[in-house]
Amino acid sequence: MRIRLALLAFVLLLPRFAAAQRDPDWIAPQQPFRIYGNTYYVGTHGLASILVTSPAGDILIDATLAENAPTIMEHIRALGFRVEDVKLILNSHAHYDHAAGTAALQRASGAAVAASAWSAAVMEHGSSPKDDPQFGVLPDYPPVPHVRIVEDGETLQVGPLALTPHITAGHTPGGTSWSWQSCEADKCLDIVYADSQTPVSADGFLFSKSDAPAQFQRGFAILEQLRCDILITPHPGASSLLERVDAKTLVDPQACRRYVARAREALANRLKREGERQR
Ligand SMILES: [Zn+2]
Repeated sequence: MRIRLALLAFVLLLPRFAAAQRDPDWIAPQQPFRIYGNTYYVGTHGLASILVTSPAGDILIDATLAENAPTIMEHIRALGFRVEDVKLILNSHAHYDHAAGTAALQRASGAAVAASAWSAAVMEHGSSPKDDPQFGVLPDYPPVPHVRIVEDGETLQVGPLALTPHITAGHTPGGTSWSWQSCEADKCLDIVYADSQTPVSADGFLFSKSDAPAQFQRGFAILEQLRCDILITPHPGASSLLERVDAKTLVDPQACRRYVARAREALANRLKREGERQR
């Protein structure tokens, strides 16, 4: 019943927060599952939402689309956890496909929300400013009342949980990757939730005339140096996450470096194309 009401509310709100380009995978069903230790996947088939749990409270990273909020809550419950135990909601980057559901999940859980300075401002407004490469083609989303600003490299704690934000910008000026450890028995692995590293923009935006290339390079260097046994990405397809789970090849200490290598190539191609077009 509650889900039906949420769906109805979503349909009524749809014209206000209508999406530009949506991949049907973003709302496609996905069985929630344990990634490793206390780290769980609670997102949809095409958008990651990650739950890290502890007896003292849980952390959720990325609320995805507004319409996915009821699904994420269902997934949290299906795994045996309580939405009310989510104490902190974090974000990769403040585009609607990763952040639009934050307000609904904050309301349902009472959790604090934390993000980089740029992302926090976007989430509090529910819309991106002009320095977002995708400015003008992004749908607005429900604003998040109060977002705490995190600094690169600080430690965010909920009980025994300790997650570290790494500013890996470029895709947006506030892009943030997150790292933490999860353990099973006596084996602890380093998990990296690496933000999107794709140079995608609205028509007319030139990466070559922006700060983005320098931001990308700084982020690449950070991601290459992180201890990274398990790579997770906001778009699971960008790191073949679900296929790696099925093939039981989830643990791969080279995955972050390969992810960066592909991103370096994509950025170089984009800058080259921009250069050719301007000649
Ligand atoms: Zn994005």
